[in-house]
Amino acid sequence: MRIDILTLFPDMCRAVFNESITGRAIQKGILQIHARNIRDYTLDKHNRVDDTPYGGGMGMLMQAQPIYDCFKALCEELGERPHLVYMSPQGSVLTQQKAVELSKLPNLCILCGHYEGVDERVLEEIVDEEISIGDYVLTGGELPALVLADSIARMIDGVLANEDAYTLESHYNSLLEYPQYTKPAVWNEKEVPAVLLSGHHANIEKWRREQSIRRTFERRPDMLESADLSAKEKQFVALLAMNEEDA
Ligand code: SAM
Repeated sequence: MRIDILTLFPDMCRAVFNESITGRAIQKGILQIHARNIRDYTLDKHNRVDDTPYGGGMGMLMQAQPIYDCFKALCEELGERPHLVYMSPQGSVLTQQKAVELSKLPNLCILCGHYEGVDERVLEEIVDEEISIGDYVLTGGELPALVLADSIARMIDGVLANEDAYTLESHYNSLLEYPQYTKPAVWNEKEVPAVLLSGHHANIEKWRREQSIRRTFERRPDMLESADLSAKEKQFVALLAMNEEDA
């Protein structure tokens, strides 16, 4: 898969995606991520990419022309028009399901806003969808774009060591992950649950599944509505709810 990030701060993006797991995937050729500087496409003789908003108001807005030309140049280079996501606090909030959906695309382009945002006309002209990383406002779209790119990258075959690494994780199946422990077996007088040291794989799986359901019930009961639970597991949830009422 190829991801192109359109930004005024390409070095900020490269510093993150060239590290750790995404950096290794890029080196292995499993994934391509490029950061393209929108400023390289401005036609302004002073290299400006922003201006004041019509109607007055605070701050500056990114202008349409450099963004449009930057995206057009990318389309020409790819020989096709990639799906374009604009990172915006006004977009739909990112979910694991959205990351899975986008990871199936061959090409994805992510547009980062800055300052007070972007001239609406270019958004109407080229953007396919707007995605937010949460109900708060950041100074720019670079961190959100990196969050989105990272959540997608780890879904691509070969990026993580094996598929279990993400299919068992929180949110993948509408459940939070079970608690995990590593060596030593006793730390600060706290012991690792005995079942995890038993070597009995079926019991370990049963314990993990139960913990996963219990944790989701306690922390994110809303998620259980879309979780795929067996009849027995639904009874377990009902029992947890009854215990909670009694407590
Ligand atoms: N004036 C805009 C508004 O009220 O909707 C906010 C602009 S924000 C200061 C600048 C840029 O940061 C946005 O254009 C967007 O690209 C990015 N951004 C800020 N918060 C974000 C969030 N929660 N999710 C995704 N992008 C965000």
